[in-house]
Amino acid sequence: MAILEVLHFPDNRLRNKAIAVESICSEIKEIAKNMLETMYAESGIGLAATQVNIAKRIIVLDLSEEKNEPLILVNPVITKLEGTETSREGCLSVPDYYDTVERAEHIEFNYKTLDNQLVKTDSDGLLAICVQHEIDHLDGKLFIDYLSPLKRQRLKKKIEKQEKQEGKVL
Ligand code: ZN
Repeated sequence: MAILEVLHFPDNRLRNKAIAVESICSEIKEIAKNMLETMYAESGIGLAATQVNIAKRIIVLDLSEEKNEPLILVNPVITKLEGTETSREGCLSVPDYYDTVERAEHIEFNYKTLDNQLVKTDSDGLLAICVQHEIDHLDGKLFIDYLSPLKRQRLKKKIEKQEKQEGKVL
């Protein structure tokens, strides 16, 4: 297992669109395990493969308090969106920034497990929000895309300034 590097906004690789996993081979299982390990190491509750620069439709989640209920979703697809709900979101790819985003309240979705089983399910609350947030990543979309352009521009400038101070950007 390995901890992977999480890309940070405004890295353009976060805009890559992930492609569907064709067969769940050992490589895919290894990627999913590494993604879980990375998510736990970064104290996140969700991670999409795009965030670790892997262009495959895989997301991992763990919404439990004890961090012992990992969920791995391969090729997740939302089939129904209902209602609206706003909540404050953050993202491992946008460190130290939180803002209010409106999403569907209730979703129906399906995915494949690592055992190649198709699961059809539905959810509301935090799980519904997370699934929408992570599938957005697979489509190259970030939660801050829902903010006003002015807010996003300010955030980009702030992050670039921070990175200069940390010496990451010359
Ligand atoms: Zn995110």
